[in-house]
Amino acid sequence: MKNIVVIGGGPAGLEASAQLHRLGYNVILVEKSPQLGGHLAKWDRLFPSGIPAKDVLEKMVSQINGVKYFLEANVQSINLLHKSYNVILNNGITVLADAVLFTTGFDLFPAQKKEEYGYGIYEKVITNADLENWFKTKKDNRVTENPKRIGFVHCVGSRDEKAGNRYCSKVCCATAVKQACEIKQEFPDVEVFCFYMDLRMFGRGYEDMYLSAQKDYGVRFIRGRVSEVAENINKELIVKAEDTLSGKPIKVTLDLLVLMSGMQNCSEGTKVAHQLGIANAGNDGFFETKDAIYSQQHSTREGIFFAGACTGPKTLPDSLSEARAAAIEIHNYVKGIR
Ligand code: SF4
Repeated sequence: MKNIVVIGGGPAGLEASAQLHRLGYNVILVEKSPQLGGHLAKWDRLFPSGIPAKDVLEKMVSQINGVKYFLEANVQSINLLHKSYNVILNNGITVLADAVLFTTGFDLFPAQKKEEYGYGIYEKVITNADLENWFKTKKDNRVTENPKRIGFVHCVGSRDEKAGNRYCSKVCCATAVKQACEIKQEFPDVEVFCFYMDLRMFGRGYEDMYLSAQKDYGVRFIRGRVSEVAENINKELIVKAEDTLSGKPIKVTLDLLVLMSGMQNCSEGTKVAHQLGIANAGNDGFFETKDAIYSQQHSTREGIFFAGACTGPKTLPDSLSEARAAAIEIHNYVKGIR
């Protein structure tokens, strides 16, 4: 039986593993953390429908019956031996793989790098991931009962030359709108502000979510970058921005500021890819595919494939579609079908 190593147990890795297993391959799934699911395991609800992330993840995990997976595992070394890859894991397991699939996903941009927003400096500045964790657990002292005003800052570490990431992270506008509505569901009297550059609500149902945020929840969308965040003696945040539509400066006092951290390529995945000479081939830090239109799942090396956010920001459905496509491409490669 042919061996396929899948690196990364997030949604793309789970879906690809399930598909490859169904196609009759011996799949070895390698996950660095103690649990499967990647970022999805830490998320509460998904846009645009609000479906619980837990339900989606449970379904994915139930489909990998028969797949061998290793948690808290990573690839120590990977080398080409004739037509196979010799993959050695940190737990001592060695696999001779006929193909390797990178589903290593993304890291969230470290918000503390944008010092002007005060993450890690001011208590009431949190990230999109922190807020999602609060929705899920209701445990975080920074989110206090009955806040009066909450702000969201879009494009944190995305579309930002200084942060080193010029690209748009694709999903954070929709995440901000979703979270703004959810905050209003939790605290109906809170005033919510979204500070944005452009709103990128490209997917099916996203525009309706945006209209509902304004009409049904009264979220205020302010086009302009936040220029300064400071804290007053009561631990409230003083946020300054410019409303570029009215041309007027704005100053608001907030109880919480949520930074929409964007996506960047996973540092762990990048380390492994370095060994194969395929890391950072793209000038945005994401892996370069063999062809931008026709061979999105192929790397520039024979037998190495990609799916999901390791080749650029993706929505969850994008990642799942790529995972299915990668499974078919790997099958064709192993069978010698061109
Ligand atoms: S999706 Fe929105 S918030 Fe995210 S980088 Fe693009 S424009 Fe900015």
